[in-house]
Amino acid sequence: MFENKERTEISKLGEFGLIQHLTEKFEIFQKDTMLGVGDDSAVLTGSEKLRLITTELFLENVHFDLMYSPLKHIGYKAVVAAISDIYAMNGNAEQIMVSIGLSSKYSLEAVEDLYFGINAACQKYRLDLVGGDTTTSVTGLALSITAIGSVAEAKLTKRNGAKEGDLLCVTGDLGAAYLGLQILEREKQVFLASKDMQPDLEGKDYIIGRQLRPEARKDIIETLEEIKIQPTSMIDVSDGLASEVFHLCKESKIGVKLYEEKIPIDQQTYDTALELNLSPTTAALSGGDDFELMFTISQNDYSKIEHSPDFSVIGYCTAPHEGIDIITKSGNLVPLEAQGWENYKPNNEDK
Ligand code: ADP
Ligand code: MG
Repeated sequence: MFENKERTEISKLGEFGLIQHLTEKFEIFQKDTMLGVGDDSAVLTGSEKLRLITTELFLENVHFDLMYSPLKHIGYKAVVAAISDIYAMNGNAEQIMVSIGLSSKYSLEAVEDLYFGINAACQKYRLDLVGGDTTTSVTGLALSITAIGSVAEAKLTKRNGAKEGDLLCVTGDLGAAYLGLQILEREKQVFLASKDMQPDLEGKDYIIGRQLRPEARKDIIETLEEIKIQPTSMIDVSDGLASEVFHLCKESKIGVKLYEEKIPIDQQTYDTALELNLSPTTAALSGGDDFELMFTISQNDYSKIEHSPDFSVIGYCTAPHEGIDIITKSGNLVPLEAQGWENYKPNNEDK
């Protein structure tokens, strides 16, 4: 965690000096950003598009653990989590605001690392840091990211547009970030039991990368535009596939048939799940932090994605009274469980 770096107290700079120091290295990419950090409020010029705004809040020891998450990765991942919600509306993320609460254990160098990660995400996704707030916290780090974006009205994709007969698709692969977390937790316990033990992360690079430094699927939004697909509904997969399927069904008033064998799972995810006596399917259904996109498309669009490695068709939408089921690899039909979530039971009133 904290390396043996120099330690400069934040109080040496004062709040204004700190903000200036942290934000001066950020570039402005977006034409709509008229005024960023430095005044009482940021100023964005109007656009003919719709504006999208979303916020994520992260708390130390609730959402991240400094034992195994470097601060630069925490900064990067927090931005990814926020902008993923903008892409999930089929929009483009353009600005972010960053608010931090810092306890006295945080040195200037630690906060610099955090902002290094935030800046790396801003460069990769062409985001402008346009403001935020800074305050003292009693314990640990609180980090809130607000993302602002835009979407043309005709492209806006909500959770509620899926229709009976539509195909259910997901990008990338699922469950890896959850298994990465299980490995990091296991090695943390080993380390706490014996400080001489070196963590054994060999052969786990993909799943640990997916946990510590995920990416948001801006590329998918661009691809959908290129291949001229307007999804009927979309949501990002941040809490596990099952709970996202429930959200989509509830909002669109549909049922779903999901095929277990179609759920995309990487080989390393699969092998690690078995090693830990977990079901790979459960990791994909109930793990979190994948930041992939799940969406529905009309069957007429199937030929446009059929051969793409970016997309998996994992099921189809039905009438609500048909329920939300998974068809297992052995061919059984069982109701989908969203662990830790209040299950949504569609009924005829929803028709
Ligand atoms: P005020 O006292 O008017 O709220 P602040 O001193 O909090 O102003 O903020 C000054 C400027 O710095 C504002 O533009 C604000 O948005 C920005 N800012 C404050 N904290 C942060 C932060 N942690 N990261 C980025 N910008 C920040
Ligand atoms: Mg302020």
